[in-house]
Amino acid sequence: MNVETRTKEPGFRESVDLMFNRAVSLMSLPEGLEEKIRVCNATYTVRFGVRLRGAIHTFTGYRSVHSEHMEPVKGGIRYALSVNQNEVEALAALMTYKCALVETPFGGSKGGLCIDPREYTEHELEMITRRFAYELAKRDLIDPSQNVPAPDMGTGEREMAWIADQYRRMNTTDINANACVTGKPIHAGGIQGRVEATGRGVEYALQEFFRHPDDVKMAGLSGGLDGKRVIVQGLGNVGYHAAKFLSEEDGAKITGVVERDGGIYSEQGLNVEAVRAWIVKHGGVKGYPEGTFVEDGAVLLEEECDILVPAAMEGVIHLGNAARIKAPLIIEAANGPITAGADEILREKGTVIIPDLYANAGGVTVSYFEWVKNLSHIRFGRMQRRQEEARHQLVVDELERLSRDSGIGWTISPGFKDRYLKGAGELELVRSGLDDTMRAAYQSMREVWHDREEVRDLRVAAYLVAIGRVAKSYQAKGL
Ligand code: NAD
Repeated sequence: MNVETRTKEPGFRESVDLMFNRAVSLMSLPEGLEEKIRVCNATYTVRFGVRLRGAIHTFTGYRSVHSEHMEPVKGGIRYALSVNQNEVEALAALMTYKCALVETPFGGSKGGLCIDPREYTEHELEMITRRFAYELAKRDLIDPSQNVPAPDMGTGEREMAWIADQYRRMNTTDINANACVTGKPIHAGGIQGRVEATGRGVEYALQEFFRHPDDVKMAGLSGGLDGKRVIVQGLGNVGYHAAKFLSEEDGAKITGVVERDGGIYSEQGLNVEAVRAWIVKHGGVKGYPEGTFVEDGAVLLEEECDILVPAAMEGVIHLGNAARIKAPLIIEAANGPITAGADEILREKGTVIIPDLYANAGGVTVSYFEWVKNLSHIRFGRMQRRQEEARHQLVVDELERLSRDSGIGWTISPGFKDRYLKGAGELELVRSGLDDTMRAAYQSMREVWHDREEVRDLRVAAYLVAIGRVAKSYQAKGL
């Protein structure tokens, strides 16, 4: 993109504020409350040293708390070289609105460490992560009742397990120590379905969107997800799971995958598992035997498709390419992939955008379930599963007896018995809770989108619902 165009773009933090301002201009909040909600309460910067390869290396990290209208505050920790204060604050603000929209009882926070994790060995990363966690925990910026991090770009279950262990070492008598961070592996206090949660949430969001023919029509589309052509940017945690479920379960066709080193495109649809395996083995999509490779992957964002899923990072759809984006429907699986300027261009064109604060809320929703599980010290479904199965068995036995005794000779369809008799385990309950959350949040946005004439898009609708809830919470405190 031309440098002049780029410099006209507001930064990520300003973009979030511009979107916030667009929504609050349609609200009548008590004087001063708008400012109170918009600003970030505090951002802590830490610089710490770790001895690696015979020398001391200094790292810079952040933890920003946007709003404490509810505590604990919640938000991921990102490892990337691009991490900076502005970015962390923008992401913390998005967390506040996201949690309010999907009704998870948290304020918003976010953390980041300026580091390229690919440059370090696993042992080195563990030492760096433990030291970062120590710095945050000693200031209550990791704490089950005050601040609960989660994975984000460049971090995953492994880092969360180190953080939880570090907190436990520092708080040996805290019975709720496991609830200090979410996204942990199952064997370290995690919950089934957390790894897939954000991508699964993207799938549930699209399923809900396609349940409303009026909304689908607004995007110039028709029918359901089956056969829809989808281009995904970033086949990491979020993008991979979203692409996998959409193709395997909903019949969508993944026609394009964009990664750091380029993109691949195939009209027939790509095999998501095979592409992912290739990326894991080769570090990128280059050389993948199926489809056509393009060196400048970003041009694939401009390719014809039905649904565009930016799932990598912020600011990838900007003033420089927005006008050329052909997808009639964009779902923001990443945080902030569309800049405020691009958002305006796309809205003018009639593109329907399912906004980040809703679209990728699956992660924080299942993190909420994990936090509750940790605090209750019991796995979901443990008490009721077998009892549920026993009651279902009674019904099946009775149906079989009736059929036999009456001589009608009914038989139960194949597979019914197994499916009906299986009581819900943790994974089924988590998916059910996530699906319910995504449906309810969509409906709350949709109502505002359709009922208020001045609301023309889902993003403003989402912000209106979220800010309204945060405002109510502040007002209830007497602020
Ligand atoms: P990740 O690190 O697992 O995956 C990111 C993927 O994007 C990687 O495959 C990477 O190679 C690719 N990528 C990076 N830069 C790229 C570029 N310039 N062009 C194309 N591809 C690029 O990260 P993730 O956890 O999947 O997060 C992705 C986005 O989703 C971020 O915006 C994050 O904030 C957001 N998000 C993540 C979660 C979560 O639970 N992990 C929850 C909510 C939101």
